[in-house]
Amino acid sequence: MNVGRTLEADLRQRLQGLDSASLRRVLRELDSPQGPEVIWNGRRLLNFSSNDYLGLAAEPFLVEAGKEALDRFGCGSGASRLVCGSLTPHGELEGALGEWKGTEAALVFSTGYAAAVGTIGALVGEGDVVVLDKLCHASLIDGARLSGAAMRVYPHNQLHRLEAHLEWARRHFPEGRVLVVTEAVFSMDGDRAPLAEIVALKERFGAWLMVDEAHSTGLFGPGGCGLVSAAGVSAQVEVQMGTLSKALGGSGGYVCGSRALVDWLLNRARAFVYSTAPSPVVSAMGLAAVHWIQGNAASARRRQLRENMERLEAGAAGMSGGRKAESAILPLIVGDADRAVAASLRLLESGFWVPAIRYPTVPKGGARLRVTVSAVHSPAMIDQLAEAFSAMGPFSEGEGGQALSH
Ligand SMILES: *Cc1c(COP(=O)(O)O)cnc(C)c1O
Repeated sequence: MNVGRTLEADLRQRLQGLDSASLRRVLRELDSPQGPEVIWNGRRLLNFSSNDYLGLAAEPFLVEAGKEALDRFGCGSGASRLVCGSLTPHGELEGALGEWKGTEAALVFSTGYAAAVGTIGALVGEGDVVVLDKLCHASLIDGARLSGAAMRVYPHNQLHRLEAHLEWARRHFPEGRVLVVTEAVFSMDGDRAPLAEIVALKERFGAWLMVDEAHSTGLFGPGGCGLVSAAGVSAQVEVQMGTLSKALGGSGGYVCGSRALVDWLLNRARAFVYSTAPSPVVSAMGLAAVHWIQGNAASARRRQLRENMERLEAGAAGMSGGRKAESAILPLIVGDADRAVAASLRLLESGFWVPAIRYPTVPKGGARLRVTVSAVHSPAMIDQLAEAFSAMGPFSEGEGGQALSH
């Protein structure tokens, strides 16, 4: 059917398909840094879309750390660190991450996506099993798929189904490695995984656990070091993964764990071995952020974030079905993609940036507005958003309500 058709014609038709399903995405260019307010097309918008939960993306002390590193180390890393050498900021960042998380060692990747894909593929392969929560991020799913291991997916946070998959894995792959993968805070739903219970299960079956703390690191737990630590299971979670691109305001993925884990990954994680190291500039900013996040100023911002989460939770109760804010992410389930897009556009016209999240990021029928709040939103900004929600009225019940209960 596609024989002889040009790539251009093929893509145009496929883009039209996205258009007609309200699934086409476009870029909007901002003429400002990320922050609670952004400038788009000359208009000031209140920004409730970003994962910059502590307001560090344009923080002056981080910008300064970046400038200093730029002067000392330049902008490029040259090659993979195995080929041309590891620069001082890379090693310093890894030392600080390991100390913060209380692990023997750490390894940084260019992105969280690369950390996820590289790590899963290095730990398991054919003859092994990966068991993932249904709502795991695309990077974790892609890592599992690429690894060649058998993949099993359990309904979101349903421990008896995880247990059944672990039994299955032990029956069918008695010699195989078994890796369980979950997020600590789920990126599109904002709820948390029952980490202590998952740890108990994986221990019972002799499986290993990888926890992605993308949306919890820097925000929860002692010194912001995450929910694995808060749950008291650091010693039992073999792979603590996360990113410096969210609460830490910069970019770059990390894995924390044993020395053996890091030594293996730097030999076998293809996303590490075959990719140029992060720029020394972003690694130096990461280092400054990891130091800052353990101090008093960060604790004050985390307190402010918690207050802001509660304010949003109360202000959006009419739209969220009274959902508790377990994180800085509050999903307002709409259901249909076209209605979610329309709601997002209406908010944009009123001066609010709240993204519509659609298939394939979330299941069909589970389209939503994903509201994220940061420590540097003022109470007045959150109240303004709540007023805009009241003016819109609740989304009608239907598929959306079901999607919420997964
Ligand atoms: C954002 C995210 C990643 C990827 O991290 P990047 O640094 O943005 O590549 C991985 N896992 C989860 C759960 C995420 O939300």
